[in-house]
Amino acid sequence: MDKTTERFFDKIIIWPSGCWMWTAATLGGSYGSLRADNKTQYAHRWAYERFIRKIPDGYDCHHTCKEKLCANPYHIKLVDKKEHEREHAITHCKNGHELTEKNTTTRAAADGGRHRVCIECRNARVRKWYWSDIDKNRETNRINTRRLREV
Ligand SMILES: [Zn+2]
Ligand SMILES: [Zn+2]
Ligand SMILES: [Zn+2]
Repeated sequence: MDKTTERFFDKIIIWPSGCWMWTAATLGGSYGSLRADNKTQYAHRWAYERFIRKIPDGYDCHHTCKEKLCANPYHIKLVDKKEHEREHAITHCKNGHELTEKNTTTRAAADGGRHRVCIECRNARVRKWYWSDIDKNRETNRINTRRLREV
């Protein structure tokens, strides 16, 4: 094995998912960085070219596993810019709930626009908040529902 490849394998740990997670320096905080051929490169791009093939001009590397720190070339798909934008169109919230019309609402954003809000997450937040101070919230709730209780 050549020296660079050896260094490369020293810097990864293999996750059960098969991801080769980068443990060393990063580029821009999110991607592995590897010094090879006298330049600092993205580790996943280097790995793709080392183990699969040269990346043609105009193509991006897309992480099919969604782990930006993963340098497993078999988790990389070559995509053109348009395709890449499509791949990153947001279809799920950060907790993995699908953002269907039914599960989405909007709220005013600081920039004057609207933010999409995942209803499932919002409801979970409300429950968490309620239970985090259950005595006080129960009491408030009792006062607020007094009229309803009297009917
Ligand atoms: Zn991966
Ligand atoms: Zn991507
Ligand atoms: Zn959600």
